[in-house]
Amino acid sequence: MNIILFGPPGAGKGTQAENITKTFNLHKISTGDLLRNEILIKSELGNKIKSIINKGSFVSDNIINDLISKVLSNKDYYNRLIFDGYPRNLEQAKNLELLVKNNNQKISCVFSLNVDKDSVLKRILGRLTCTKCGEIFNKYFKPADNKKHLCDSNFLEKRSDDNEKTVLKRYQTYLDKTLPILDYYKDLNLLYEIDGGAKINEIFAKISHIIASLEAWLYKAYLYK
Ligand code: AMP
Repeated sequence: MNIILFGPPGAGKGTQAENITKTFNLHKISTGDLLRNEILIKSELGNKIKSIINKGSFVSDNIINDLISKVLSNKDYYNRLIFDGYPRNLEQAKNLELLVKNNNQKISCVFSLNVDKDSVLKRILGRLTCTKCGEIFNKYFKPADNKKHLCDSNFLEKRSDDNEKTVLKRYQTYLDKTLPILDYYKDLNLLYEIDGGAKINEIFAKISHIIASLEAWLYKAYLYK
């Protein structure tokens, strides 16, 4: 089962993707993480995209499509992917459709986490990521105290694009470019809209229930084939 997670910046996609990955044994593919890693290792690609990401603009579709093409042809991930932050526009969604077909796979469901602009701002401005274990915390809503997080607090970092000006731009780009894709997936009967303003565990319970029912259905369809 391949899954797509949608939502504006700060909707909680990364946190939910981590939970889903652990519970359902999937592989999380976050295009944002892949791109940030290129910047971290100072690759040619990383140097090219650094200022684009810091401005809150989109990296070109060609770059993104190349990254995803490698992921989908990797046999270790066959039909067990969860996409976080991809696709971001209609062109990417259509390209994903092609890549999925060419690799004999399917998108099984699409979740959209709906969160308003004020909550987005609060969440992003408090967001901290552990550069050691990758877990995402929030200064206000989910502090990284020792019981929950065993890595040294020096590993906690704010993302360079998590400032008010960039967040507002990323939010507007989400409305203009990414939201229209939801209709595309609605027409394919794949879309589930979730209230992203609820508590983390409540959102996860809803998502898990849907995935578990779909898995049971897919399993039955396989048995009676
Ligand atoms: P994210 O971690 O998903 O918030 O992404 C951080 C930044 O990486 C975005 O603001 C974009 O600059 C870039 N980015 C991530 N995913 C994509 C994508 N699918 N298409 C274009 N740019 C992307």
